[in-house]
Amino acid sequence: MQNYSSQVKLLFTDRGVGIDRDRVCALIGREVDLYMPIQRHTDVAVTILEGHDLTSEGCVADAVITDRVGLLIGVQTADCVPIVAFDPHRGVIAAIHAGWRGTAKGILKSVVAALCTDFSCRAGDILMAVGPSIKSCCYEVGSDVMDAVRQATGAGNYICSEAGRWYVDLARANLHQALSVGLSQANVWISPDCTSCLPDRYYSYRRTKCTGRQGGFIGML
Ligand SMILES: [Zn+2]
Repeated sequence: MQNYSSQVKLLFTDRGVGIDRDRVCALIGREVDLYMPIQRHTDVAVTILEGHDLTSEGCVADAVITDRVGLLIGVQTADCVPIVAFDPHRGVIAAIHAGWRGTAKGILKSVVAALCTDFSCRAGDILMAVGPSIKSCCYEVGSDVMDAVRQATGAGNYICSEAGRWYVDLARANLHQALSVGLSQANVWISPDCTSCLPDRYYSYRRTKCTGRQGGFIGML
């Protein structure tokens, strides 16, 4: 069994780098192929295998899975949750965009299921990192959003209420989903940063209605 840990690079960017390919490559230290899907708040994951034509237009998906060495994959966000995952035993990685819709559709659980089915991963081996996203301090939601997220996630400490208003922490909801399908808490890292609380550092769609995006990237390089 190969050990892939030494060659994996992951990064969550801020406003300074955003999703600019050249700046991302500069951070990594060399030119690499980058694949990002056309995100539409789906629960679709695209798997990039050897021979996949990267020069053709990207497809609509909100997660990317690959076992291809040398390929950087990523998602873009501005409040939604960027997640990257890696199985060091199977040599496969994933990047996931989970907004409230994706979280309500259980996109993370779908990706873990695909990793276990298609790549023989064990959920307990999967390492996961969750990048900066809007937290419950700033993310008030209606009962429809709260219900949809709760339906997919189950009970947990990712929802809080104050003065009749509801606030959701989507990063924590995704942690709950990850644990529910067998990931280990010890294998999950979550950024403490709230994108809305830190407008100088991150793009926040809710705070500024901006069009800029930061990214979450991972590659076996
Ligand atoms: Zn906040």
